[in-house]
Order: sequence, then structure tokens, then C-alpha cells
Amino acid sequence: MKIEVLTLFPNMFSAVMSESMMWKARDRGLLDFSACDIRDHSGDKHRKVDDSPYGGGGGMILKADVLLRAIDALEPAADTPVILMSPQGRTLTHAVALALSRRVRLILVCGHYEGVDERVRDLAITDEISIGDYVLTGGELAAMVLIDAVVRLIPGVLGAEGAEQRDSYADGLLEGPHYTRPPEVRGLTAPEVLTSGHHAEVEHWRRRQSLRRTWQRRPDLLEKADLSADDREYLAGLAAGEAD
Ligand code: SAM
Repeated sequence: MKIEVLTLFPNMFSAVMSESMMWKARDRGLLDFSACDIRDHSGDKHRKVDDSPYGGGGGMILKADVLLRAIDALEPAADTPVILMSPQGRTLTHAVALALSRRVRLILVCGHYEGVDERVRDLAITDEISIGDYVLTGGELAAMVLIDAVVRLIPGVLGAEGAEQRDSYADGLLEGPHYTRPPEVRGLTAPEVLTSGHHAEVEHWRRRQSLRRTWQRRPDLLEKADLSADDREYLAGLAAGEAD
């Protein structure tokens, strides 16, 4: 996958894209990443990219002509998603990240100041994505969140085969708790079943813990989850206070 980011602060991406799984994805040739400086397209000797809003009011607006030149320079294909990071966009979820992970190329546009001239949306943006109902100073952190969520879903990026399929949201549920050595910490022991060596029992325990945690914390997810008769019986027991 090729990901190109348009930003006023390309250096912000250096650390995140040079460590851990993002670096491994690049090193393995699974991700071609570049951060392009919007200022290179200002067409102005002072590298100016913003101007005050028509109609007055505070803040500055990223200029449409500059941003459109920066997008054009990347020569997006007709089917390349050109995504504006925006608090007004659709919310980033596992389903959105999974769909994006199947694309071969993404262009991410990071806004700043009060935002971008609306005509950039009208002329060049194909999608708008928000990472949550709050406002950040700029789109860079949001773009990094999106890139991490997407790239880890590209087959081959995570070491353990299919590890991402056990994570929360992948099967519509939250994942259950994890334990590792030592067996006892300050009087708390790890569940015995996990060290029993019975693979089927471990899987059964994990499924129930996942159901239990989802029921406790995100019952809304259960409405859309793919549940077996056994799952439903267990959930009914939890609701009746008869299961633990
Ligand atoms: N005035 C804008 C509004 O009220 O919708 C907010 C502009 S914000 C200060 C500057 C830039 O940060 C935005 O253009 C966007 O690129 C980015 N940004 C802020 N919050 C975001 C969020 N929750 N998700 C994605 N991008 C965000």
C-alpha cells in the first residue's frame, strides 16, 4: 500500500513511521509512506499557505489554490481515496479501517488552523474521516491514528498470523482479559484454565470472557455480533445473574 500525507508538519510523522509495526511494514515493503509539505506548493516567496476568512471571524483558513496544487502534484488516480482528516467526517471504526486496508493507495490531507477552504472539499476530497467527537489542532495526529489502524490490518504486517483477528472489534466483540507470568501477583492468580494445556477449554473460556466483557462495557455491540446458540444462552445467564 502507498500512503501519501499532505501536511504543514511532515516532521511530525518521523518518529511514528520509523518505529515498531509501522517501520516493519515499510521495511518489509508492505507500506510505501511519504509526508509531503503543503508549503512546497504555496507559489509564494514567503511560503504562505493560509489567509483570513471571508466574512471575518477569528483564525486562518488553508487556501484552496495551494491545497489543490498539492493534491494535483500527487496525481491521484480516479479511484484513489483523497481523505480529509476532519472532526466533521465519518468516524474511524474497525470496519472503516478494514475497508481502507484493502486499497492500494491512500492520500490523506491534514487540515490546520480553522480548517480548509470549502472548495477543496468540493473539488478534490472523496472522503472525510474523524477520529472522534473532539477537535485537534491539526490533522496530523488523526492521520497517524488512521495509518496505524489501517496498516496493522494489511496481511503480513503483524508478526503472528491472524493476530489482528482476535483483537477487539474484529469479530464484533471486545477481547477478553490477558495474563502472563508470573502465575501470582500480589495475591492475584491467573485463571487456572489458561495453564491447563486444554486448547478447547482455553478457547471456550476466552469466548465467554469476550462475551462477558462486551456485555459489561459495550452491550450495543452485541446487537450486531454473530452469536451462536451457546453464546446467547451464556448471555441470558449473565443477564439473569446466573452465570459468571
Ligand atoms: N474549525 C473546524 C471545525 O470546527 O470543524 C476545526 C478545525 S481543527 C482546529 C484543524 C484541523 O484539525 C482540521 O481541519 C482537521 O484536519 C484536524 N482535526 C481536528 N479534529 C479532528 C478530528 N477529530 N478528527 C480528524 N481530524 C481532526
